[in-house]
Amino acid sequence: MRYDALLIDVDGVVKVGTTVLAGVPRAIAALRSSGVPFLLVTNNSTLRPADLVRRLSLGGLDIRPEEILTSAQVLVYSIGHSLTYGVAAKRGVLVIGEDGLKGELQAGGYRITENSTDGLVAVGLDRSFNYEKLRLALRSVKLGARILATNTDSTYPSEEEELPGAGAMVAAIRAFATSPVRVMGKPSRVFFRAALSRLGMNRSGRVLIVGDRPETDVRLAKMNGAASALVLSGVTSASEARALIGGMRPDYVFRSLEETVKTSLGII
Ligand SMILES: [Mg+2]
Repeated sequence: MRYDALLIDVDGVVKVGTTVLAGVPRAIAALRSSGVPFLLVTNNSTLRPADLVRRLSLGGLDIRPEEILTSAQVLVYSIGHSLTYGVAAKRGVLVIGEDGLKGELQAGGYRITENSTDGLVAVGLDRSFNYEKLRLALRSVKLGARILATNTDSTYPSEEEELPGAGAMVAAIRAFATSPVRVMGKPSRVFFRAALSRLGMNRSGRVLIVGDRPETDVRLAKMNGAASALVLSGVTSASEARALIGGMRPDYVFRSLEETVKTSLGII
């Protein structure tokens, strides 16, 4: 076995829309029976792990909530590991985001406020985003609130069409932010640290990151000294994969998660 653990992207690797991709249950079963630790890692902050577990199980894939790491969980991890954000969060958290983000913050013991705050503004994908929320965020910025974002993906795929992502909300807030907006999702270093922490690993472990987006998944690997496998089951085509250079160029290109596990670990 050449890797100590796998970080596996969800959309475009494990599922597309609500459909679990072919071979994925077999690949996950092989990882389990071979004792290779893995985490499903996603920038999607709208669902809590238990919700994602239910969706995947409808598609025939059994995953446990503790095998999932979301950008909302990393945001909460970051608050817990930073004195600055920890102190700010105690004064209240204004959330521009959905139940996944709110639920993780509440589970972490943080108080969510419906009003402006001098504490923390947490920003993720919010499909009820509106001017009033933007007004409260501006008021919070003026009061000195810190800003954390789950991710800056500009769009995300649905079965029908590409939709505006959390990055669009973050861009709106960055227009008036007076301090840096810290981003927690892939490809941030804190995301990788949170993943290693969940796996109980240290930095010297050999990690393979499997994903379908060069700018998030491959970059997460490059920035953290991990190996990367780009799979063609999501948003990147074979010809696009061949054209990648520099920090976006993966170590491997495979058709699917199943082929990744078969070829790089030899355990199917
Ligand atoms: Mg993906």
